[in-house]
Amino acid sequence: MKAPPTPAPSDATFESLGLKPALVEALSALGYEEPTPIQAAALPPLLGGKDLLGIAATGTGKTAAFALPLLHHVTPGECKPHTTSALVLVPTRELAMQVSEAIHRYGQKLGVSVLPLYGGQVIGQQLRVLKRGVDVVVATPGRALDHLRRGTLQLDDVRMVVLDEADEMLDMGFADDLEAILSGTPEDRQTALFSATLPPRIASIAERHLHEPVRVKIAREKVEQGEMPRVRQTAYVVPRAFKIATLGRLLDVESPTAAIIFCRTRTEVDDLTVSLNGRGWRAHALHGGMTQEQRDRVIKQLKSQGTDLLVATDVAARGLDIPRLSHVVNFDVPNAPEAYVHRIGRTGRAGREGVAITLVEPREHRLLRNIERVTGQRIEVATVPTVADMREKRQEMLRASLHETLVAGEFDSLRGVVEGLASEFDPMDIAAAAVKLLQDAEDEGRDSEETEIPVVAPPQERKDRPGGKFGGPPGRTGGRPERGPKTRSAPPTWDVTRLWIGAGRHAGMRPADLVGAIAGEAGVESSKIGAIQIGDTFSLVEVPESDANRIIAALKNATLRGKKVLVRKDRS
Ligand code: AMP
Repeated sequence: MKAPPTPAPSDATFESLGLKPALVEALSALGYEEPTPIQAAALPPLLGGKDLLGIAATGTGKTAAFALPLLHHVTPGECKPHTTSALVLVPTRELAMQVSEAIHRYGQKLGVSVLPLYGGQVIGQQLRVLKRGVDVVVATPGRALDHLRRGTLQLDDVRMVVLDEADEMLDMGFADDLEAILSGTPEDRQTALFSATLPPRIASIAERHLHEPVRVKIAREKVEQGEMPRVRQTAYVVPRAFKIATLGRLLDVESPTAAIIFCRTRTEVDDLTVSLNGRGWRAHALHGGMTQEQRDRVIKQLKSQGTDLLVATDVAARGLDIPRLSHVVNFDVPNAPEAYVHRIGRTGRAGREGVAITLVEPREHRLLRNIERVTGQRIEVATVPTVADMREKRQEMLRASLHETLVAGEFDSLRGVVEGLASEFDPMDIAAAAVKLLQDAEDEGRDSEETEIPVVAPPQERKDRPGGKFGGPPGRTGGRPERGPKTRSAPPTWDVTRLWIGAGRHAGMRPADLVGAIAGEAGVESSKIGAIQIGDTFSLVEVPESDANRIIAALKNATLRGKKVLVRKDRS
């Protein structure tokens, strides 16, 4: 069973799709400006009571695509004890919490009750709520089955069932549990199945449990190469909590002439604008909640160089043409590949190369691969500049400004200050102290640059494993198949020192080159090599203190990336 791509969304609005006014209001309050493609395609059939097979990954807006129709249909408070009107099955406890929170957020005004059920929760609280009856249950299959067997959850009155991330549920070995749960629900229920992929096992579940489903697939047609702008595309995988700090660092490194930073919602646009201004940037918001006059003023300021950063939603920035735009930043991965293409098309105009930067949360990685498939272009996943990189960058800038000032030579009136000190201090020390003052002034308010941002390895592309099981036993699997921040499993038991190596990213240096050279030339076990940071023009490597001199001596006679390099203990 193949789902053809669903056509690109029309100019549908949440109102025009026929949602209850209270839901439309909730979405507007959350700052959603228009339905995402999966929502525009899935809402009409689901609101019309049809079954649905949706092929969409996390980040496309699929939660609202099923949560809104579910909330639209449910009559709050009509459940008898131990029953529910709607059941959403999800693979993990994290997703159970997220989906349950989303349903609560969207349905707050309707007074719909929602309960997440997952392993590891205190059962007493679950039992109390179930005893009263709850409008929507969001559960992992293992925990749902537990309650069915105990009789604490009954499915006779269920009118809608959603299987979310069905391929993940099968990968985690929940196939039998799903069958058991579905067989306990009424025949005439409405069913929606969402999956990122459509392997035969999912098709077969859909065949058996969905009744003449409408198929919705987010378009994956290739974008013609000629349509793609000339843009350097880079992505950074960072946990949500570090996104603003990462953005600040990237703006410092990239120094854009002018940039648009895209967010998904009005609320995010407003919050990020406040944060950026608080950190010393000149940023203005642009979204659909502003009057036309306000929007015109902001656009005029950006064009006339009064603003460097525009924080915008897709809707508000549509059709915007600003020739001086050097960068587009996706603060969130856009909900659909088409939106990505539109966004980055704002830069790289008039034959100039533009830069597109995308911040990706670890769980959104699949969305990025999808964009690459659609555009046929690679998005390089880079590492966020480290504290050491930032320090080096700032010193470089400082050196450049001093050089400029020395060449301009307009500092005669200040010679007296230096002369006054020269009888007591060495001129070199006086100059260094002056630079320190400058640097301290520059450093003020740069606290975010002093915190290391964790390096998150992108998760491996998950292959579909027919009949395979992923992770532990049903109901007990907590996390998703992602690798967390790279950390050393245990602290070293030896003293560590840091080496400075005079070649970095510009010379093509990679961590593997350093490990290879240190292990190969100095005979140090690679497991003893600690954190490695690659800056633009230098690298830093942690090694055992007792091996440091031997490594320095060995590397002096060796070549790295084909060149002799300077190696010394780091003095910073
Ligand atoms: P999901 O794919 O359901 O995990 O949603 C991904 C993100 O998109 C969530 O942060 C949602 O809040 C957000 N989102 C969903 N629908 C919309 C929309 N129509 N406009 C803006 N953001 C949305």
